[in-house]
Amino acid sequence: MKLYEYEAKQIFEKFDLTVPKKIGIIENVSDLEGLSLNFPVMIKAMVLIGGRGKAGGIKKADNIEEVREICSKMFDLTIHGLAIKKLLLEEAVDVSHEIYLSIITDPATFDLVIVASASGGIDIEEVAKNQPGEIWKKTLGDNPNTLPEELSKEAADFLVERNPELTSVKESLSTAIIALFSAFQKCEAKICEINPLIVTCDNQLIAADAKFVLDDNSLYRQAPLLKSIGIDPRSKRHDVSEQTKYEAQAYIIGFPFLDLLDNPENFQKEEDKLYVGLVPGGAGYGIFSIDEVVNVGNRYFDGNVVPINFMDSGGGPSLSKVADMFHLLMDHPATDLIITSRFGGISSCDIFIQGLIMALRDRYISKRRMIPIFGRMVGTDLAAAKAFFDKAKKESPEPLKDLHIVVGNQKIMAEVIKDGIEYGFRIKKQKELGGIK
Ligand code: GDP
Ligand code: MN
Repeated sequence: MKLYEYEAKQIFEKFDLTVPKKIGIIENVSDLEGLSLNFPVMIKAMVLIGGRGKAGGIKKADNIEEVREICSKMFDLTIHGLAIKKLLLEEAVDVSHEIYLSIITDPATFDLVIVASASGGIDIEEVAKNQPGEIWKKTLGDNPNTLPEELSKEAADFLVERNPELTSVKESLSTAIIALFSAFQKCEAKICEINPLIVTCDNQLIAADAKFVLDDNSLYRQAPLLKSIGIDPRSKRHDVSEQTKYEAQAYIIGFPFLDLLDNPENFQKEEDKLYVGLVPGGAGYGIFSIDEVVNVGNRYFDGNVVPINFMDSGGGPSLSKVADMFHLLMDHPATDLIITSRFGGISSCDIFIQGLIMALRDRYISKRRMIPIFGRMVGTDLAAAKAFFDKAKKESPEPLKDLHIVVGNQKIMAEVIKDGIEYGFRIKKQKELGGIK
Protein backbone atom coordinates (compact mmCIF):
# COMPACT_ATOMS: atom_id res chain seq x y z
CA MET A 1 0.00 0.00 0.00
CA LYS A 2 1.41 3.33 -1.04
CA LEU A 3 0.88 6.13 1.43
CA TYR A 4 0.26 9.73 0.56
CA GLU A 5 3.02 12.11 1.57
CA TYR A 6 0.95 13.60 4.41
CA GLU A 7 0.27 10.11 5.78
CA ALA A 8 3.91 9.10 5.53
CA LYS A 9 4.94 12.29 7.29
CA GLN A 10 2.70 11.40 10.24
CA ILE A 11 4.68 8.18 10.56
CA PHE A 12 7.98 10.07 10.30
CA GLU A 13 6.93 12.26 13.22
CA LYS A 14 6.27 9.19 15.38
CA PHE A 15 9.90 8.25 14.80
CA ASP A 16 11.23 11.71 15.62
CA LEU A 17 12.02 12.69 12.06
CA THR A 18 11.22 16.38 11.68
CA VAL A 19 8.85 17.34 8.88
CA PRO A 20 7.79 20.81 7.67
CA LYS A 21 5.02 22.50 9.65
CA LYS A 22 1.72 21.35 8.22
CA ILE A 23 -0.87 24.03 7.49
CA GLY A 24 -3.61 21.75 6.23
CA ILE A 25 -5.03 19.53 3.54
CA ILE A 26 -7.57 21.03 1.14
CA GLU A 27 -9.97 19.37 -1.27
CA ASN A 28 -11.09 22.58 -2.97
CA VAL A 29 -10.11 26.23 -3.02
CA SER A 30 -12.83 27.28 -0.57
CA ASP A 31 -11.19 25.09 2.11
CA LEU A 32 -8.46 27.76 2.23
CA GLU A 33 -10.79 30.01 4.27
CA GLY A 34 -10.30 28.03 7.48
CA LEU A 35 -6.49 28.00 7.34
CA SER A 36 -4.02 30.37 8.91
CA LEU A 37 -1.13 30.78 6.51
CA ASN A 38 2.45 31.60 7.35
CA PHE A 39 4.27 32.61 4.18
CA PRO A 40 6.03 31.34 2.16
CA VAL A 41 3.80 28.32 1.73
CA MET A 42 4.55 25.11 -0.16
CA ILE A 43 1.60 23.71 -2.10
CA LYS A 44 1.93 20.03 -2.90
CA ALA A 45 -0.27 17.80 -5.07
CA MET A 46 -1.23 14.58 -3.27
CA VAL A 47 -0.83 11.87 -5.88
CA LEU A 48 0.75 8.47 -5.41
CA ILE A 49 3.53 9.07 -7.89
CA GLY A 50 6.94 10.72 -7.83
CA GLY A 51 8.30 13.50 -10.00
CA ARG A 52 5.51 15.88 -9.05
CA GLY A 53 7.90 18.80 -8.98
CA LYS A 54 8.71 18.49 -12.68
CA ALA A 55 5.03 17.98 -13.52
CA GLY A 56 3.95 21.23 -11.83
CA GLY A 57 2.61 19.58 -8.68
CA ILE A 58 4.94 21.35 -6.20
CA LYS A 59 4.79 25.17 -5.94
CA LYS A 60 5.78 27.88 -3.51
CA ALA A 61 3.49 30.85 -2.79
CA ASP A 62 4.34 34.14 -1.06
CA ASN A 63 0.88 35.57 -0.48
CA ILE A 64 -2.77 34.55 -0.34
CA GLU A 65 -3.50 35.60 -3.94
CA GLU A 66 -0.72 33.33 -5.17
CA VAL A 67 -1.94 30.50 -2.96
CA ARG A 68 -5.47 30.78 -4.42
CA GLU A 69 -4.24 30.93 -7.99
CA ILE A 70 -1.80 28.01 -7.62
CA CYS A 71 -4.33 25.84 -5.79
CA SER A 72 -7.06 26.43 -8.32
CA LYS A 73 -4.71 25.63 -11.21
CA MET A 74 -3.38 22.54 -9.47
CA PHE A 75 -6.85 21.05 -8.96
CA ASP A 76 -7.26 21.16 -12.76
CA LEU A 77 -3.93 19.47 -13.36
CA THR A 78 -3.38 15.76 -13.91
CA ILE A 79 -0.01 14.17 -13.16
CA HIS A 80 0.74 11.17 -15.37
CA GLY A 81 -2.99 10.75 -15.86
CA LEU A 82 -3.84 11.03 -12.16
CA ALA A 83 -6.38 13.60 -11.00
CA ILE A 84 -5.39 15.73 -8.03
CA LYS A 85 -8.04 15.52 -5.32
CA LYS A 86 -6.08 16.84 -2.35
CA LEU A 87 -3.41 19.45 -1.79
CA LEU A 88 -1.06 19.55 1.16
CA LEU A 89 -0.10 23.02 2.38
CA GLU A 90 3.04 23.37 4.48
CA GLU A 91 5.24 26.17 5.68
CA ALA A 92 8.19 26.32 3.29
CA VAL A 93 11.63 25.61 4.67
CA ASP A 94 14.76 27.43 3.57
CA VAL A 95 17.15 25.06 1.91
CA SER A 96 20.87 24.89 2.34
CA HIS A 97 21.43 21.29 1.18
CA GLU A 98 19.32 18.44 -0.10
CA ILE A 99 20.10 14.86 0.94
CA TYR A 100 18.71 11.59 -0.39
CA LEU A 101 17.92 8.71 1.98
CA SER A 102 16.07 5.49 1.37
CA ILE A 103 15.56 1.95 2.57
CA ILE A 104 14.08 -0.69 0.31
CA THR A 105 13.58 -4.44 0.28
CA ASP A 106 15.34 -5.92 -2.71
CA PRO A 107 12.46 -7.83 -4.34
CA ALA A 108 14.81 -10.52 -5.68
CA THR A 109 16.78 -11.34 -2.53
CA PHE A 110 14.62 -9.84 0.27
CA ASP A 111 17.77 -8.15 1.54
CA LEU A 112 17.39 -4.64 2.91
CA VAL A 113 19.21 -1.98 0.96
CA ILE A 114 20.09 1.41 2.42
CA VAL A 115 20.89 4.21 0.02
CA ALA A 116 22.22 7.68 0.83
CA SER A 117 23.47 10.53 -1.29
CA ALA A 118 24.51 14.12 -0.73
CA SER A 119 23.06 14.88 -4.18
CA GLY A 120 19.42 14.80 -3.11
CA GLY A 121 16.42 16.68 -4.42
CA ILE A 122 16.74 15.34 -7.94
CA ASP A 123 15.89 11.98 -9.44
CA ILE A 124 18.11 9.41 -7.71
CA GLU A 125 18.07 7.24 -10.85
CA GLU A 126 19.78 10.07 -12.69
CA VAL A 127 22.42 10.42 -9.99
CA ALA A 128 22.96 6.66 -10.10
CA LYS A 129 23.41 6.79 -13.86
CA ASN A 130 25.52 9.91 -14.23
CA GLN A 131 27.44 10.06 -10.94
CA PRO A 132 27.41 6.58 -9.40
CA GLY A 133 30.23 7.60 -7.06
CA GLU A 134 27.82 10.00 -5.32
CA ILE A 135 25.76 7.14 -3.95
CA TRP A 136 26.36 5.16 -0.76
CA LYS A 137 24.66 1.79 -0.78
CA LYS A 138 24.66 -0.97 1.79
CA THR A 139 22.94 -4.34 1.59
CA LEU A 140 21.86 -6.01 4.83
CA GLY A 141 21.24 -9.73 4.67
CA ASP A 142 20.40 -10.28 8.33
CA ASN A 143 17.29 -8.08 8.66
CA PRO A 144 18.11 -6.42 12.01
CA ASN A 145 15.37 -4.61 13.96
CA THR A 146 17.54 -1.58 14.47
CA LEU A 147 20.34 -0.29 12.33
CA PRO A 148 23.79 -0.83 13.86
CA GLU A 149 25.30 2.53 14.71
CA GLU A 150 28.50 1.86 12.82
CA LEU A 151 26.49 1.67 9.60
CA SER A 152 24.61 4.91 10.15
CA LYS A 153 27.96 6.53 11.00
CA GLU A 154 29.49 5.09 7.84
CA ALA A 155 26.67 6.63 5.80
CA ALA A 156 27.00 9.98 7.57
CA ASP A 157 30.78 9.95 7.05
CA PHE A 158 30.24 9.32 3.34
CA LEU A 159 27.81 12.25 3.08
CA VAL A 160 30.25 14.58 4.87
CA GLU A 161 33.12 13.39 2.74
CA ARG A 162 31.14 14.22 -0.40
CA ASN A 163 30.07 17.56 1.01
CA PRO A 164 32.21 18.94 3.89
CA GLU A 165 29.57 21.61 4.58
CA LEU A 166 27.52 18.83 6.16
CA THR A 167 30.07 18.35 8.96
CA SER A 168 27.98 20.23 11.51
CA VAL A 169 24.96 17.97 10.89
CA LYS A 170 26.89 14.69 10.82
CA GLU A 171 25.46 13.49 14.15
CA SER A 172 21.90 14.36 13.16
CA LEU A 173 22.32 12.63 9.80
CA SER A 174 23.37 9.46 11.55
CA THR A 175 20.37 9.73 13.91
CA ALA A 176 17.99 10.35 10.98
CA ILE A 177 19.19 7.23 9.17
CA ILE A 178 18.61 5.14 12.30
CA ALA A 179 15.15 6.68 12.73
CA LEU A 180 14.18 5.99 9.12
CA PHE A 181 15.38 2.41 9.49
CA SER A 182 13.27 1.93 12.64
CA ALA A 183 10.21 3.37 10.89
CA PHE A 184 10.80 0.96 8.00
CA GLN A 185 11.09 -2.09 10.25
CA LYS A 186 8.35 -1.25 12.76
CA CYS A 187 5.82 -0.52 10.02
CA GLU A 188 6.90 -3.48 7.88
CA ALA A 189 7.52 -1.25 4.90
CA LYS A 190 8.77 -2.22 1.48
CA ILE A 191 10.08 1.24 0.61
CA CYS A 192 10.84 4.34 2.70
CA GLU A 193 12.37 7.30 0.98
CA ILE A 194 13.15 10.89 1.93
CA ASN A 195 14.04 13.02 -1.05
CA PRO A 196 14.94 15.64 -0.18
CA LEU A 197 15.99 15.55 3.43
CA ILE A 198 16.55 19.27 3.69
CA VAL A 199 19.41 20.76 5.68
CA THR A 200 18.21 24.22 6.61
CA CYS A 201 20.42 27.29 6.91
CA ASP A 202 20.31 26.90 10.70
CA ASN A 203 21.42 23.27 10.45
CA GLN A 204 18.15 21.53 11.08
CA LEU A 205 17.24 18.35 9.21
CA ILE A 206 13.73 18.34 7.77
CA ALA A 207 12.11 15.57 5.72
CA ALA A 208 10.54 17.71 2.99
CA ASP A 209 9.19 14.76 1.01
CA ALA A 210 8.13 11.31 2.13
CA LYS A 211 7.56 8.12 0.22
CA PHE A 212 6.31 5.15 2.14
CA VAL A 213 5.10 1.81 0.76
CA LEU A 214 3.74 -0.73 3.23
CA ASP A 215 3.91 -4.45 2.59
CA ASP A 216 0.35 -5.55 1.73
CA ASN A 217 1.00 -8.96 3.27
CA SER A 218 1.52 -7.52 6.74
CA LEU A 219 -1.24 -4.90 6.73
CA TYR A 220 -3.34 -6.96 9.14
CA ARG A 221 -0.61 -6.53 11.73
CA GLN A 222 -0.38 -2.82 11.01
CA ALA A 223 -4.03 -1.97 11.67
CA PRO A 224 -3.18 0.27 14.68
CA LEU A 225 -0.65 2.18 12.59
CA LEU A 226 -3.13 2.64 9.73
CA LYS A 227 -5.82 3.89 12.12
CA SER A 228 -3.37 6.31 13.72
CA ILE A 229 -2.73 7.99 10.38
CA GLY A 230 -6.40 8.12 9.41
CA ILE A 231 -6.65 5.06 7.13
CA ASP A 232 -9.45 2.57 7.70
CA PRO A 233 -7.61 -0.78 7.85
CA ARG A 234 -10.60 -2.50 6.25
CA SER A 235 -10.48 -0.27 3.20
CA LYS A 236 -8.62 -1.85 0.36
CA ARG A 237 -6.90 1.10 -1.13
CA HIS A 238 -5.87 0.30 -4.63
CA ASP A 239 -2.69 1.58 -6.21
CA VAL A 240 -4.48 3.39 -8.99
CA SER A 241 -1.21 5.00 -10.00
CA GLU A 242 0.00 1.69 -11.31
CA GLN A 243 -3.16 0.61 -13.10
CA THR A 244 -3.44 0.51 -16.84
CA LYS A 245 -6.66 1.80 -18.43
CA TYR A 246 -7.96 -1.76 -18.76
CA GLU A 247 -7.02 -2.74 -15.22
CA ALA A 248 -8.88 0.31 -13.94
CA GLN A 249 -11.93 -0.60 -16.02
CA ALA A 250 -11.93 -4.18 -14.70
CA TYR A 251 -11.53 -2.90 -11.15
CA ILE A 252 -14.65 -0.75 -11.53
CA ILE A 253 -16.67 -3.60 -13.05
CA GLY A 254 -15.38 -5.90 -10.33
CA PHE A 255 -13.05 -8.63 -11.57
CA PRO A 256 -9.30 -9.15 -11.29
CA PHE A 257 -7.45 -8.25 -14.49
CA LEU A 258 -3.76 -7.70 -15.12
CA ASP A 259 -2.16 -6.45 -18.31
CA LEU A 260 0.95 -8.45 -19.10
CA LEU A 261 2.05 -5.89 -21.68
CA ASP A 262 4.05 -2.94 -20.45
CA ASN A 263 2.21 -0.10 -22.06
CA PRO A 264 -0.98 -1.57 -23.53
CA GLU A 265 -2.47 1.73 -24.67
CA ASN A 266 0.46 2.68 -26.88
CA PHE A 267 1.73 -0.71 -27.66
CA GLN A 268 3.75 -1.48 -30.80
CA LYS A 269 2.72 -4.95 -31.88
CA GLU A 270 5.39 -7.08 -33.52
CA GLU A 271 4.39 -8.05 -37.08
CA ASP A 272 4.90 -11.79 -36.88
CA LYS A 273 3.36 -12.31 -33.45
CA LEU A 274 -0.15 -13.29 -32.42
CA TYR A 275 -1.49 -11.61 -29.27
CA VAL A 276 -3.90 -13.72 -27.26
CA GLY A 277 -6.40 -12.44 -24.70
CA LEU A 278 -7.59 -14.86 -22.02
CA VAL A 279 -11.00 -15.25 -20.39
CA PRO A 280 -10.48 -18.26 -18.12
CA GLY A 281 -12.79 -19.66 -15.47
CA GLY A 282 -10.83 -18.88 -12.33
CA ALA A 283 -7.50 -17.65 -10.99
CA GLY A 284 -5.75 -21.01 -11.27
CA TYR A 285 -7.15 -21.55 -14.73
CA GLY A 286 -5.97 -18.03 -15.59
CA ILE A 287 -2.39 -18.86 -14.65
CA PHE A 288 -2.61 -22.19 -16.47
CA SER A 289 -3.91 -20.46 -19.61
CA ILE A 290 -0.99 -18.03 -19.69
CA ASP A 291 1.50 -20.91 -19.41
CA GLU A 292 -0.30 -23.11 -21.90
CA VAL A 293 -0.60 -20.40 -24.56
CA VAL A 294 3.16 -19.84 -24.27
CA ASN A 295 3.80 -23.59 -24.29
CA VAL A 296 1.70 -24.25 -27.41
CA GLY A 297 3.22 -21.15 -29.03
CA ASN A 298 6.74 -22.44 -28.39
CA ARG A 299 5.98 -25.96 -29.59
CA TYR A 300 4.13 -25.25 -32.79
CA PHE A 301 4.44 -21.57 -33.68
CA ASP A 302 8.13 -20.66 -33.23
CA GLY A 303 7.44 -18.85 -29.98
CA ASN A 304 5.42 -16.20 -31.80
CA VAL A 305 2.41 -16.26 -29.49
CA VAL A 306 2.01 -13.74 -26.67
CA PRO A 307 -0.58 -13.97 -23.87
CA ILE A 308 -1.63 -10.42 -23.06
CA ASN A 309 -3.48 -10.68 -19.75
CA PHE A 310 -4.35 -12.48 -16.58
CA MET A 311 -8.02 -12.54 -15.67
CA ASP A 312 -10.23 -14.20 -13.10
CA SER A 313 -13.99 -14.19 -13.39
CA GLY A 314 -14.51 -15.05 -9.74
CA GLY A 315 -17.11 -17.61 -8.68
CA GLY A 316 -20.45 -17.35 -10.49
CA PRO A 317 -20.10 -14.17 -12.55
CA SER A 318 -23.36 -12.58 -13.66
CA LEU A 319 -24.37 -12.47 -17.30
CA SER A 320 -23.40 -8.84 -17.67
CA LYS A 321 -20.03 -9.39 -15.99
CA VAL A 322 -19.24 -12.18 -18.46
CA ALA A 323 -20.18 -9.83 -21.30
CA ASP A 324 -18.01 -7.06 -19.83
CA MET A 325 -15.02 -9.39 -19.58
CA PHE A 326 -15.22 -10.15 -23.30
CA HIS A 327 -15.90 -6.50 -24.21
CA LEU A 328 -12.79 -5.44 -22.32
CA LEU A 329 -10.56 -7.80 -24.29
CA MET A 330 -12.21 -7.07 -27.63
CA ASP A 331 -11.70 -3.35 -27.00
CA HIS A 332 -8.09 -3.97 -26.04
CA PRO A 333 -5.89 -2.80 -28.94
CA ALA A 334 -3.49 -5.75 -28.67
CA THR A 335 -5.95 -8.64 -28.90
CA ASP A 336 -5.82 -10.84 -32.06
CA LEU A 337 -7.56 -13.87 -30.56
CA ILE A 338 -9.41 -14.74 -27.36
CA ILE A 339 -9.06 -18.10 -25.64
CA THR A 340 -11.76 -18.89 -23.10
CA SER A 341 -12.70 -21.79 -20.90
CA ARG A 342 -15.59 -22.44 -18.57
CA PHE A 343 -15.01 -25.20 -16.07
CA GLY A 344 -18.44 -24.96 -14.51
CA GLY A 345 -18.30 -25.74 -10.82
CA ILE A 346 -19.71 -22.86 -8.86
CA SER A 347 -20.52 -21.00 -12.04
CA SER A 348 -22.95 -21.93 -14.74
CA CYS A 349 -22.00 -22.68 -18.35
CA ASP A 350 -25.44 -21.39 -19.34
CA ILE A 351 -24.89 -17.91 -17.91
CA PHE A 352 -21.39 -17.89 -19.38
CA ILE A 353 -22.50 -18.65 -22.95
CA GLN A 354 -25.45 -16.25 -22.70
CA GLY A 355 -23.16 -13.42 -21.53
CA LEU A 356 -20.63 -14.15 -24.25
CA ILE A 357 -23.25 -14.26 -27.00
CA MET A 358 -24.91 -11.11 -25.70
CA ALA A 359 -21.56 -9.32 -26.00
CA LEU A 360 -21.02 -10.57 -29.58
CA ARG A 361 -24.53 -9.60 -30.69
CA ASP A 362 -24.18 -6.14 -29.16
CA ARG A 363 -20.84 -5.58 -30.83
CA TYR A 364 -22.10 -6.81 -34.20
CA ILE A 365 -25.06 -4.44 -34.13
CA SER A 366 -23.00 -1.46 -33.01
CA LYS A 367 -20.17 -2.34 -35.44
CA ARG A 368 -17.55 -2.66 -32.71
CA ARG A 369 -14.41 -4.70 -33.32
CA MET A 370 -15.00 -8.48 -33.46
CA ILE A 371 -12.25 -10.91 -32.45
CA PRO A 372 -12.16 -14.69 -33.04
CA ILE A 373 -12.92 -16.63 -29.87
CA PHE A 374 -11.90 -20.23 -29.19
CA GLY A 375 -12.79 -22.11 -26.05
CA ARG A 376 -14.34 -24.99 -24.23
CA MET A 377 -17.09 -25.35 -21.66
CA VAL A 378 -17.77 -28.27 -19.34
CA GLY A 379 -19.66 -28.69 -16.06
CA THR A 380 -22.69 -27.15 -14.43
CA ASP A 381 -25.73 -26.37 -16.64
CA LEU A 382 -24.01 -27.73 -19.74
CA ALA A 383 -27.20 -29.09 -21.37
CA ALA A 384 -28.98 -25.74 -21.07
CA ALA A 385 -25.84 -23.98 -22.32
CA LYS A 386 -25.67 -26.25 -25.36
CA ALA A 387 -29.34 -25.71 -26.19
CA PHE A 388 -28.92 -21.94 -25.96
CA PHE A 389 -25.71 -22.00 -28.01
CA ASP A 390 -27.22 -24.15 -30.81
CA LYS A 391 -30.28 -21.94 -31.03
CA ALA A 392 -28.21 -18.75 -31.06
CA LYS A 393 -25.97 -20.03 -33.86
CA LYS A 394 -29.08 -20.59 -36.02
CA GLU A 395 -30.56 -17.21 -35.12
CA SER A 396 -27.39 -15.11 -35.45
CA PRO A 397 -24.95 -16.85 -37.79
CA GLU A 398 -23.11 -13.66 -38.74
CA PRO A 399 -22.37 -12.25 -35.24
CA LEU A 400 -21.28 -15.72 -34.08
CA LYS A 401 -19.29 -16.84 -37.11
CA ASP A 402 -15.94 -16.49 -35.30
CA LEU A 403 -17.09 -18.12 -32.09
CA HIS A 404 -15.72 -21.65 -31.68
CA ILE A 405 -16.70 -23.28 -28.41
CA VAL A 406 -16.22 -26.98 -27.78
CA VAL A 407 -19.15 -28.17 -25.69
CA GLY A 408 -18.03 -30.97 -23.34
CA ASN A 409 -14.56 -32.40 -22.78
CA GLN A 410 -13.88 -34.26 -26.02
CA LYS A 411 -10.88 -31.95 -26.55
CA ILE A 412 -8.24 -30.95 -24.03
CA MET A 413 -7.55 -27.22 -23.68
CA ALA A 414 -4.10 -27.57 -25.30
CA GLU A 415 -5.82 -28.67 -28.52
CA VAL A 416 -8.41 -25.91 -28.30
CA ILE A 417 -5.59 -23.39 -27.83
CA LYS A 418 -3.68 -24.82 -30.80
CA ASP A 419 -6.78 -24.69 -33.02
CA GLY A 420 -7.40 -21.10 -31.97
CA ILE A 421 -3.85 -19.97 -32.62
CA GLU A 422 -3.81 -21.64 -36.05
CA TYR A 423 -7.06 -19.87 -36.92
CA GLY A 424 -5.76 -16.58 -35.50
CA PHE A 425 -2.64 -16.70 -37.68
CA ARG A 426 -4.74 -17.60 -40.74
CA ILE A 427 -7.08 -14.63 -40.22
CA LYS A 428 -4.10 -12.37 -39.63
CA LYS A 429 -2.51 -13.49 -42.91
CA GLN A 430 -5.77 -13.01 -44.83
CA LYS A 431 -6.09 -9.49 -43.47
CA GLU A 432 -2.50 -8.67 -44.42
CA LEU A 433 -3.01 -10.05 -47.95
CA GLY A 434 -6.33 -8.27 -48.31
CA GLY A 435 -4.81 -5.10 -46.91
CA ILE A 436 -7.61 -4.87 -44.39
CA LYS A 437 -6.61 -3.20 -41.19
P1 GDP B 1 8.61 15.25 -5.95
O1 GDP B 1 9.01 16.05 -7.16
O2 GDP B 1 7.32 14.51 -6.19
O3 GDP B 1 9.69 14.35 -5.45
O4 GDP B 1 8.26 16.30 -4.78
P2 GDP B 1 9.14 16.91 -3.59
O5 GDP B 1 8.27 17.00 -2.41
O6 GDP B 1 10.43 16.19 -3.42
O7 GDP B 1 9.42 18.39 -4.08
C1 GDP B 1 10.23 18.68 -5.21
C2 GDP B 1 11.27 19.72 -4.86
O8 GDP B 1 10.66 20.87 -4.33
C3 GDP B 1 12.25 19.28 -3.77
O9 GDP B 1 13.31 18.52 -4.27
C4 GDP B 1 12.74 20.61 -3.24
O10 GDP B 1 13.78 21.09 -4.04
C5 GDP B 1 11.53 21.50 -3.41
N1 GDP B 1 10.89 21.66 -2.10
C6 GDP B 1 9.99 20.85 -1.47
N2 GDP B 1 9.65 21.33 -0.27
C7 GDP B 1 10.32 22.48 -0.12
C8 GDP B 1 10.38 23.49 0.90
O11 GDP B 1 9.72 23.41 1.94
N3 GDP B 1 11.19 24.55 0.66
C9 GDP B 1 11.90 24.70 -0.46
N4 GDP B 1 12.65 25.76 -0.62
N5 GDP B 1 11.88 23.79 -1.43
C10 GDP B 1 11.11 22.70 -1.28
MN1 MN C 1 10.84 14.13 -3.80
